[in-house]
Amino acid sequence: MDYKDILSYVKEEKILFIRLQFSDINGNLKNVEIPSQELERAFERGIMFDGSSIEGFARIEESDMYLRPDPNTFAVLPWSTDGMKSARLICDVYTPADEPFEGDPRYRLKLIVEKARKMGFEPYAGPELEFFILPRDEKGYPKAEFLDKGSYFDLLPLNEVESLRSEAAVALRTMGINVEATHHEVSPSQHELDFRYGPVLVTADNVQTVKLVLKTIAVKHNLRVTFMPKPFFGINGSGMHTHMSLFKGDENVFYDPNSSDGLSQTMKYFIGGLLKYARQITLVTNPTVNSYKRLVPGYEAPVNIAWSKANRTALIRIPAARGKSTRLEYRAPDPTCNAYLAFAVLFAAGLKGIEEKIEPPAPIEENIYHMSEERKSLFKIDSLPGSLREAIEEARNSELVKEVLGDHIFKKLIDLKRREWRDFSIAVTDWEREKYLNC
Ligand code: GLU
Ligand code: MG
Ligand code: MG
Repeated sequence: MDYKDILSYVKEEKILFIRLQFSDINGNLKNVEIPSQELERAFERGIMFDGSSIEGFARIEESDMYLRPDPNTFAVLPWSTDGMKSARLICDVYTPADEPFEGDPRYRLKLIVEKARKMGFEPYAGPELEFFILPRDEKGYPKAEFLDKGSYFDLLPLNEVESLRSEAAVALRTMGINVEATHHEVSPSQHELDFRYGPVLVTADNVQTVKLVLKTIAVKHNLRVTFMPKPFFGINGSGMHTHMSLFKGDENVFYDPNSSDGLSQTMKYFIGGLLKYARQITLVTNPTVNSYKRLVPGYEAPVNIAWSKANRTALIRIPAARGKSTRLEYRAPDPTCNAYLAFAVLFAAGLKGIEEKIEPPAPIEENIYHMSEERKSLFKIDSLPGSLREAIEEARNSELVKEVLGDHIFKKLIDLKRREWRDFSIAVTDWEREKYLNC
């Protein structure tokens, strides 16, 4: 639909309000609601807002920013207040000089898509979103208690949780997102939702939408959804594995029917790039203190920088499908990442691999969790950063991360994350009391 079609649709369907959405540096969805009479003005001139109040956006002195709705993102919201219908549009952020704001995460991803196109490729991504569904406490916050004892692919007796998942899938379909599967995950109260892969910008928008829909529908059921990567010690945490491929027109350039494994040289270089830059980009794919409690051996989350055709202990796994479905699965990201920025650094690293013709090391087919340190060093297997602090140091010294995020986000992100690390390091945890109170 172009914007004139949207205006007539909104009138015909009696849609009263439009939510203009965008994301801050942490990947939190923000929105402003306008009555639909204002939509034409929004399309033509943009809607002004105060950027200084948004995390990671403008300074007080230059705070006026404009939201410009992207007509491709129009969707009617699958819920209404008192029968009043609303729709949403995802927006790009512009400066008063009518230029894209360099600190807008969606713009950073658009720049990488442009770069890929210049190289002749269209980037595609498909994430697997994992999360816990938890009860709520008196204040409405998620409570760290299990709702079920289910495990992988379990069918729970018909209950709130199963209907929450199905309702979310139906709601997402009405918004144009094809949910391919939802299922119980390995941990009690843990679930997964997978939707169809697509062009990377659409996919990042979809991640934001899926999170919003899951959270909103959970509230309707008096439950809470959390995307915290490792809410419970001793069981699997939640990842956001990201499947990636590059197309040229209708052809998947990761596929080569003439090579022994069906994988093209372009794909090998792409993998080489991801492995080379993995440590540097982890701050963006795994941005919280808690992210690093998930990246430990034993819970199907990656720790070591290696690739593999089958085993799930490596950072990059190559699913068995070939032909148009040839792809890699990058297993580090967790759902607290800003999907726009995470996809931007991931594709940037892969594309660098192609540009620099980085040959990856041989794939590792044995279980890396069980490898001795000697054996790991024999294969030159490095590990992902072990803490937020280490990840900050890696990113801070990375030309690639700086270039992809742009000066504005780069600086804000490093500042923000340093503060988060400092707050964490001075906090006194339950673990410490248990260990030292009896000293
Ligand atoms: N939950 C695991 C993780 O943290 C992944 C499980 C799976 O392979 O689906 O990455
Ligand atoms: Mg999973
Ligand atoms: Mg997976």
